[in-house]
Amino acid sequence: MSNVLKNIPSVNELLERPPLRKLVDRANRNVVVSGVRRFLDNLRTEVKNAAADVNVPTPGELAERIAKWISDEDTPNLRPVINATGILLHTGLGRAPLAEPAVEAIVAIARGYASVEVDVETGERSQRVRDAEKLLKQITGAEAAVVVNNNAGATLLTLAALAAGREVIVARGQLVEIGGSFRLPNVMEFSGAKLREVGTTNKTRIEDYRAAIRQETAALMRVHASNYAIVGFTEQASLAELVDLGSKRNLPVIDDIGSGAMEDVAAYGLTDEPVVTESIKTGADVVLFSGDKLFGGPQCGIIVGKKSSVEKIAKHPLMRALRVDKITLAALVETLRLHQDRETAKQSLPLMSLLNTSVANLQNRAERMAPQLAASSAVKSAEPIESFTYLGGGSIPAQQIPTWCVALEPDRGSVDTLAATLRKGVPCVFGRIHKDRLLLDLRSVFPKQDMQIVEAVQQLGGGVTESAPAE
Ligand SMILES: *Cc1c(COP(=O)(O)O)cnc(C)c1O
Repeated sequence: MSNVLKNIPSVNELLERPPLRKLVDRANRNVVVSGVRRFLDNLRTEVKNAAADVNVPTPGELAERIAKWISDEDTPNLRPVINATGILLHTGLGRAPLAEPAVEAIVAIARGYASVEVDVETGERSQRVRDAEKLLKQITGAEAAVVVNNNAGATLLTLAALAAGREVIVARGQLVEIGGSFRLPNVMEFSGAKLREVGTTNKTRIEDYRAAIRQETAALMRVHASNYAIVGFTEQASLAELVDLGSKRNLPVIDDIGSGAMEDVAAYGLTDEPVVTESIKTGADVVLFSGDKLFGGPQCGIIVGKKSSVEKIAKHPLMRALRVDKITLAALVETLRLHQDRETAKQSLPLMSLLNTSVANLQNRAERMAPQLAASSAVKSAEPIESFTYLGGGSIPAQQIPTWCVALEPDRGSVDTLAATLRKGVPCVFGRIHKDRLLLDLRSVFPKQDMQIVEAVQQLGGGVTESAPAE
């Protein structure tokens, strides 16, 4: 064993080898040196702990392996991704892509100092979310607005401010878990509000709410069951009925709508998606939604509604813990400005342009890409196919959005390996696996990314199978 340890080359010797010399030229020398040391430490431990003798690779091989290891370790997991899963609001892939003005605002504000809490006119201290609130009131028609870190935070804060120590009435069928980690009952518990469930899983009538109201009741709440649908024999009280009951009994109605659609999105195949302005018009006291779902902005939680309720929310001590940073604010304000005009919003918000892309356009692109993808030696076949996808982000799996994909069959190895290699490549491409094929779904792909996908797949096979024609 000690012989084996002696065979491990020195750090300096390894650094002289081409793969590591190249890395030193590209990266920081100290980072490479410390990487080599860590790798050798691990190797020594491995040798010491091994039951049998371990073969130490030649210095050349070792340098090669260490260079790859350092490059991999050095690449952050967080990187830009081409989303070919078809899921438009993929929480794992960061939900809504931002519009260009929002991106530009982030860069401008992040680079230096910014008037986050100072009024430029007077030089006095001001509210950090003032611009966002003004625009939110304008575009939603609400009397007041508050912005926090995300919709889970908005729920927590709203319940803490309006119902701590008292009861909130919610329909049993709306006690949802969203995206694996957001469980409404848990959030309610943390807020200090007590949950009063009414009705059955599939049916809740307005009479159920009425019968549950008592001294301890602080609010009525509706939650958009965005990630599942109870179909068939169902009944839910309408928002209008809740508002009517709330006003008669002097109880605020909280409407957690989730996605924050600004218009009826039924035209895209998404029915039953609540619209912010409708909720306000119907008279909900507080409307909650995420900034990064259908609204198309940065991650944040938006609270709009009546002054009396929203002011209580804004004054709660938790507000300070949930406040948004200048980068989010910069992106949100630009997103809100785009929402001032529906046509502008449709054209400038990337999410809207993806939703708006015609099926014929997707089919065209899939048919054009398929032969180019099939030319990769990593691919046995590539077929354009018609399919369905979903909005995602905890939204309605029952509602299908029509799409076109290219279905890839790997030339060798499993489809999982093909998916993994594509995922680890540059650019990083995520598809979805269906029946032993890797589907590249164009519903969530920007047209300018089509060629990048083709190149990524061609690289997998080390190029195309037939040699390219000479010019
Ligand atoms: C997505 C969602 C949430 C959680 O929102 P985040 O922004 O992810 O915190 C809460 N309620 C509903 C109805 C949702 O759809």
